[in-house]
Amino acid sequence: MKTYVLKDENERELKLLDETIEKIKREKLPSILKIQQAILRSVDDYMYKNGVVRLLPNMISPITDPLCHSVEDCDFTYGGQKFNVTKSMIFHKQLALSNPYLQKIYIVSPNVRLELPERGDVRHLFEFTQVDFEFKDATMDTVFGFMEGLIEQAFCYIKEECKEEFKKLGVGTSHLDVSGPFERHTTQELKAKYGEDFEALASKEATRPFWLINHKREFYDAEDLENKGTYKNYDLIWPMGYVEGLSGGEREYNYDRIITRMREAGMDEQSMKDYIELAKRGEIPKTAGAGFGVERMTRFVCQQDDIDEVTVFSRKPGKGKYIF
Ligand code: AMP
Ligand code: MG
Repeated sequence: MKTYVLKDENERELKLLDETIEKIKREKLPSILKIQQAILRSVDDYMYKNGVVRLLPNMISPITDPLCHSVEDCDFTYGGQKFNVTKSMIFHKQLALSNPYLQKIYIVSPNVRLELPERGDVRHLFEFTQVDFEFKDATMDTVFGFMEGLIEQAFCYIKEECKEEFKKLGVGTSHLDVSGPFERHTTQELKAKYGEDFEALASKEATRPFWLINHKREFYDAEDLENKGTYKNYDLIWPMGYVEGLSGGEREYNYDRIITRMREAGMDEQSMKDYIELAKRGEIPKTAGAGFGVERMTRFVCQQDDIDEVTVFSRKPGKGKYIF
């Protein structure tokens, strides 16, 4: 009996090795990576031109994004203190902007989110890279215009720069002919039109990216106080069924508002006590920002069915075992 189990296990391991090597050796991989590199090059250039200062990433911290969905926990102890891996740098962005001489920042930020197996779909990874930016005293409109400009520049650049790569992938570039301003739709409006699966259906029908506004989610995304129950936050939806590519919002920064929203969300205030204390002292500035997944943008640009196609090593949740 034992031998059989061992044999199965060995076979499974060998199959995994084969699959891993096969994935690395894919002919299309260099084209995808070159296009991704061109995206990042254009993004850095756009940030630099617009005076957005680059911070290097922090990958562990006592405080990280609580997210609005469950992931496997990943905390550990360092020097007797509890740390977590970075799920996003939202709180670091806010704090960094308390520097009176910093106005606009971004980070090319590795995020570890140990997504549950049910997120083993075509757009989730359990480790990905987010281009995360935040501007002081900005509004949603500033972020919309900024992101539309970024996409326009990046898509224009890669169309010119990566002609050979698109040819090798057998992918056209008409989906990259986009310019702002993008349409804006509220979640309520699309829900009324498409039902519960509104995001996927609206994305499938769209031929251009669009903004989806007014999602209620994490406590740090600001509620519109003149219009209670609506939120000054937004997603950018990639068209042709590629769905969400970016999330962001104007942020709560006032102590009372932060506490109210944390309580509404049932947050553990103890684990956030230092952040709360800083808010009390008025150290959280008024900001707005967003973050987009690099792999999701690459997937859309390269028109790949599955996000797993754009990474060298599989980071798709729920595969059971990973050897690299
Ligand atoms: P969020 O603020 O949680 O929406 O994350 C910001 C952006 O990061 C999203 O809009 C996606 O583009 C990307 N992203 C979030 N989670 C994942 C994931 N598990 N895998 C790949 N990309 C992700
Ligand atoms: Mg999101």
